[in-house]
Amino acid sequence: MSKHICKHIFVTGGVVSSLGKGLTSASVGLLLENRGLRVRLQKLDPYLNIDPGTMSPYQHGEVYVLDDGTETDLDLGHYERFTSGPLTRQSNYTSGRIYQSILQKERRGEYLGSTVQVIPHVTDEIKSAIRGVATSDVDVVITELGGTVGDIEGLPYLEAIRQFALDVGKNNCLYIHLTLVPYLKAAGESKTKPTQTSVMQLRQIGIQPDVLICRTEREMSEGMKDKIALFCNVERRAVIEERDKELSIYEVPVSLSANKLDQIIVEKLDLETKQLDMSVWQSMLNRVFNPRQEVSIGVVGKYISLSDAYKSIYESLDHAGIALESRVVVRRIDSEEVERDGADRALAGLDGILVPGGFGYRGIPGKLAAVRYAREKKIPFFGICLGLQCAVIEFARSVLGLKEANTTEIDADTRDPVVCLLDDQFSITDMGGTMRLGSYPCKLTPSSLAHKVYGADEVLERHRHRYEFNNAYRQIFESNGMRFSGTSPDGNLVEVVEIPDHPWFLAVQSHPEFKSKPTKSHPLFREFVRASLDHKDRRRGS
Ligand code: GLN
Repeated sequence: MSKHICKHIFVTGGVVSSLGKGLTSASVGLLLENRGLRVRLQKLDPYLNIDPGTMSPYQHGEVYVLDDGTETDLDLGHYERFTSGPLTRQSNYTSGRIYQSILQKERRGEYLGSTVQVIPHVTDEIKSAIRGVATSDVDVVITELGGTVGDIEGLPYLEAIRQFALDVGKNNCLYIHLTLVPYLKAAGESKTKPTQTSVMQLRQIGIQPDVLICRTEREMSEGMKDKIALFCNVERRAVIEERDKELSIYEVPVSLSANKLDQIIVEKLDLETKQLDMSVWQSMLNRVFNPRQEVSIGVVGKYISLSDAYKSIYESLDHAGIALESRVVVRRIDSEEVERDGADRALAGLDGILVPGGFGYRGIPGKLAAVRYAREKKIPFFGICLGLQCAVIEFARSVLGLKEANTTEIDADTRDPVVCLLDDQFSITDMGGTMRLGSYPCKLTPSSLAHKVYGADEVLERHRHRYEFNNAYRQIFESNGMRFSGTSPDGNLVEVVEIPDHPWFLAVQSHPEFKSKPTKSHPLFREFVRASLDHKDRRRGS
């Protein structure tokens, strides 16, 4: 029997950041999985935070949470939406984590008196992080390197992935480099020089890319591709144009496969695979391109100006639209605008209202106003995490008459702490990794809306929060029309609330947006959007 050999693909980026390395890595993963290979994706981030959990959305966009509770980069969201291989704590490393592990070993004396250095100790630690996902049940590991070639903090990673090919054999490694081919209006043409320069930087370190993916606004001429191939020492067919997609990011794998990227990878890594069959993906895309109707959903949050802060929520709304052959037009509404202009003005004309997760006081009054507007005007409402907490605070204030009801996150001395810390969170002082994180079971009440939507008695959803509904108030809420339709299996933690006397009012303490896929919309998002379509019809009819 031949020894199992795991192949490695490394994805780097040059010229500028935000080229879509995550999407490209996920797309490569999808194509290889589709050809029958067992693929694992991994992201290495050169910054010094241990994980992105303590970083502001302004710095980092959404923090994506895995089943095992790891707080990760949002690119892992793309990985999960495009591929099916499990992601774990080993799927995302930062320099902070790499160094933390090295420093702990140093304190334990594991380096036996030697000087601890970037080469070989940091590079060894990085290589062992890569090897950690290359288990015997995996055919290909795709490792994406965060940042841009030329960044000082990325150097140890480039050195590590260079060495990696020496360790496992050049034939078992493939380097994909993403670059930008900018169009210069004044010159009236696209330029290849930035690509040449960034490949030169890579080659200086000792990495010769096997494939170049050129991100462009305009079509590249054959002559330009010839030139890039020659100057960058890359095979001509492996210079691949990747033009901006106007309609959907889900077109990326199809366009890469049209440029034979999967075939090139399979040949270069000498992999035996099935033929590519994109029919399921393509029929999903056909739905994206041919919606039968439109629906307008307002997302009322505080990081609205940032396109990445609620990434998975926007994606999940798109997935719901795909499932219902509808175009979901998302209106991003700054909760402070609702506070300033009033809900009537800020939220007019919406078919559904979603309040996403968040932290801290700013924006809360506007979110509460949005909940109230949706509840009273009977507009479909979907609350997520902080959105649930706002839904119960608003209910306590408006329906139960507890005018000062609050979460202790905002007012530690409130008379009516309807949302508060539970005992096990009380004594924690560290910020990083100390929330209720990861997958937890939730038991659903038969005949509730949640039960009907999920079509299951028990479900698993991911969490990322500290505060919980305060059980001392359960009874008074229930006797006044709010239903607790999902709890932890022991009944202790409130997971889902709904208002039966409303067309569609449901909020969850978890983050269902982390489990939706373009080919399999999450039922909560799908049914929320369906209810919003119904609301639109009702509005039109009346
Ligand atoms: N800030 C709230 C908590 O910690 C909600 C968190 C969230 O929405 N992810 O409980």
